[in-house]
Amino acid sequence: MNFPGNFRYIGEVDVSALKTLVLGLPEDQWQRESYRQQRYEVHRSTETINLVFDPDFRHTHPTRFPALETFEPLIRPALGLVADYYETSPRGRELLQGKRLGYFIRANVVRLKAGGDIPPHKDGNFSLAHSHRVHLPIITNDEVRFSVGSETRNLPEGTLYEINNRRTHSVHNAGPEDRVHLILDYVLRGEKCCCGERLHPDTVCSPQACLETDQFRIPCTCFPDDAAA
Ligand SMILES: [Zn+2]
Ligand SMILES: [Zn+2]
Repeated sequence: MNFPGNFRYIGEVDVSALKTLVLGLPEDQWQRESYRQQRYEVHRSTETINLVFDPDFRHTHPTRFPALETFEPLIRPALGLVADYYETSPRGRELLQGKRLGYFIRANVVRLKAGGDIPPHKDGNFSLAHSHRVHLPIITNDEVRFSVGSETRNLPEGTLYEINNRRTHSVHNAGPEDRVHLILDYVLRGEKCCCGERLHPDTVCSPQACLETDQFRIPCTCFPDDAAA
């Protein structure tokens, strides 16, 4: 989702148990779900373990994968922190009045190989434009560079950041070891994209209503520095 900024700090969790789990995974577990790296050229240096995922990038009724059972107890603190962050935000409070809570539409563990990179791209489908993409580094090193818009950072282990996936972003792992992140996509029910507020203020967002802006056919200039990002 777009927001005024590149990185949004969410909070911190202890990832030591999660790190132990990830380091102990059998190597073939990383090769089972080859969907992401095959379909998307930008993800050729990554391998993914799907916890909650659908290849059609649907926005409701997510599919839970067997690996979620193993990971769930260890990622629960991060899930709770992310849900609390958005639900208690001014927008969250407004949307949630007496209604159902938000949900995670996707959760994946993604490994970026040593020396690998994710070339610059913007996320352009309905669900990715209407959910909050939060990264939790589980294993990283000083030479991983995450760029969003015109800003480049090294994200530390255990720190949750939302990244602005509607701006150009890229990652380079120049370090000697693989980088592993938990990537969460969180949906606040009824939350509109920035362009939706501007272009169809009286109707809800939908794949039809937001088609042109989701795919950047109508450029988004909702926030001051968007045009340059
Ligand atoms: Zn929209
Ligand atoms: Zn916009």
